Amino acid sequence: MLPVNTALDLIAEHTPGPGEPVTLPLSSRLLTGSVMAEDVYSPNHVPNYRASIVDGYAVADADLQPGVYPVVAVSHASSHGVEKPLLKSGQIARVTTGAPVPPGTVAVVMVEETELVSTTEDGTEEREVHILAKNIQASENIREVGSDIKKGSLVLSQGTVISGTAGEIGVLASLGLTENIKVYRKPVVGVLSTGDEVVDTLNGEKRSLEYGEIYDSNRPMLLETVRSWGFKAVDLGIARDVDAELSITIHKALSQVDLLITTGGVSMGELDLLKPTLVSKAIGGTIHFGRVAMKPGKPTTFVTVPARDDGCNTNSYAEKVVFALPGNPASASVTFHLFVLPALRKMAGQTPQSLPRVRVILDQALSLDPRAEYHRVHVAQDPTTGALVATSTGGQRSSRVGSIQGANGLLILPSSRDAKRTRMEKGDILDAILINKL
Ligand code: AMP
Ligand code: MG
Repeated sequence: MLPVNTALDLIAEHTPGPGEPVTLPLSSRLLTGSVMAEDVYSPNHVPNYRASIVDGYAVADADLQPGVYPVVAVSHASSHGVEKPLLKSGQIARVTTGAPVPPGTVAVVMVEETELVSTTEDGTEEREVHILAKNIQASENIREVGSDIKKGSLVLSQGTVISGTAGEIGVLASLGLTENIKVYRKPVVGVLSTGDEVVDTLNGEKRSLEYGEIYDSNRPMLLETVRSWGFKAVDLGIARDVDAELSITIHKALSQVDLLITTGGVSMGELDLLKPTLVSKAIGGTIHFGRVAMKPGKPTTFVTVPARDDGCNTNSYAEKVVFALPGNPASASVTFHLFVLPALRKMAGQTPQSLPRVRVILDQALSLDPRAEYHRVHVAQDPTTGALVATSTGGQRSSRVGSIQGANGLLILPSSRDAKRTRMEKGDILDAILINKL
């Protein structure tokens, strides 16, 4: 049996990198999580005019002394496009936040440091203002041209992940770069359930279970998990445990998707057909590993299928990646996050490929297994100490879907052999992989 780290190395080695870039508009939902395929340089200055940072008065003298000055102009943040007349020494102009300052402006005094002295007869415009500020510095309260982003400067480099939260979209928008954003195409993921006992929960009529049947929980769960990580997921239905049918279904699937996830059919029973089908002549896959020293997820199988060129488009495809995950839902979820996501991230050009880890304190004792265990936990900050604490989701049997419910972390429990102990105690510190927000 393969150690988890060796399995991860094999995935990193055999998963193809990103393919040809595609261009997307800024409005595309697919942009989030996409990776820039080229460097982007700013086509203009931000701001592209000298702008006031505050509501106040533009002044033309750096050494302006406190006193009463005539207000000769007003400038609002608007798009009138005409430059104000030159501000001369001893004159001031009313400006609002973000508005262009008149040429000749040396600094802006904020309104809090002024007093209105007089207005025009009709009371609509200011005539004189008392400037109270002392020691006015040149450039004070002015955003100089290009001071936020300089024209020609590198704003996004190739390899940057466009995240939903880190402002890349805002930067592109601020430069007016709304079309033709060159990113690596994200892999399309197919999700296929297998098993004669598995009853569809997505398509077709709802029906109650016959003796020995189970509802398909893996497919709805994985389709949604894949989508929540920003990838396109294709529902491939359920394949029966019949090798010819499975083979045809997989063959068809590989022409539609870049990465195929199957669940079930990888245990040691006679109907566990995934491995033989994937390496059969019809599919021609290579198994890089088929048993991992972990709990849950031991039978996880990683396969690549070489590119196929049948001379006609319908049956030709580029190299594919297949993860045959165990049938039990908790195993499928754990192995998806541990193994499939890094592969997907590599295919999308994302780095790092693995999910982040945090150090957590156990809030209860947990016994260790001879295999490394990925225990589903909820990680949260202790309000008193500020430390991250991991709370088990309860029974960890791999068939128990409830063990994933509410989990945002996979606590890495070492193998009892490696740790040379049979349990971890409350208060012990371990790593957890974050599979969801804290
Ligand atoms: P298998 O590897 O096919 O023997 O499946 C292992 C266990 O997972 C069996 O108890 C299956 O009934 C269960 N299982 C397989 N596929 C699914 C599924 N799509 N949803 C829920 N449980 C499943
Ligand atoms: Mg089965």
